[in-house]
Amino acid sequence: MNRRAFLRLAGLSTAGLFVPRGILEFPPSVRTAMENGYNFYGLTIDDGWSSAGVDETVDTLLQSRAFGLPDASATFFFVGRLLADRGRQVFDAFGDFRSFDFGYHTMNHPAVEEVVRWSSDDWLRDMDAWVTAGLRAGLGGLLVAFARSPGGVTTDAFLEACATFDTPLMPVGWSTEPYDWHRGRILIDSGRIALAHARHSDVGILAQALLIAHAFHRVPVNLPRLWTAHKVYRRACDESWGGSAAFCPYLNPK
Ligand SMILES: [Zn+2]
Repeated sequence: MNRRAFLRLAGLSTAGLFVPRGILEFPPSVRTAMENGYNFYGLTIDDGWSSAGVDETVDTLLQSRAFGLPDASATFFFVGRLLADRGRQVFDAFGDFRSFDFGYHTMNHPAVEEVVRWSSDDWLRDMDAWVTAGLRAGLGGLLVAFARSPGGVTTDAFLEACATFDTPLMPVGWSTEPYDWHRGRILIDSGRIALAHARHSDVGILAQALLIAHAFHRVPVNLPRLWTAHKVYRRACDESWGGSAAFCPYLNPK
């Protein structure tokens, strides 16, 4: 099936497709993209306030198989509150869906005005509480070394805590943000990190974005897989092009 036929099947057209750019500016130490040669993009899903919203989101990822998409994988930046409240039941939501892991997103998702005042000790205490909640929920092997703050807040205290936590955390932002999703018909570019939320109101647009990306041969993966793909290509470029990414055709597509 060609791209147009595929999109027609999904009730979409290429007219009006746009490639979003995040509105928030992140400092260079916070990754919003990881270039790679596989057309992978990172799918991240935040918050998880309601069990129903989590269930619906996972169902959407599972249903995407019915459209011939390869298994979508995703990194879930859940609040620690959900992990603490649901414990081992967190796994119930995932059922047949196997390709997932979790990144740090605070215990209780404080308001931006509050979280900008946190010291690095405040962050470290919260990271500890979040990891403890995850371990108690039995998620040990699925807690990955990525961190995202509420609202994408990037203070020096947050970055310092990420760097000095027991297992250092890599701060990640996003290049496709919630406002973009609700404009519809978005095409997520290769290497980009997309942010969605585990809630009812986002499920339709998430399904649409997955289909559009698939029509353009872009594959949603979780962050560990995106990071590995990125490292492989950096290394290939470094070895083949004298250590200068500036000449690497993979990192500098024409
Ligand atoms: Zn959030």
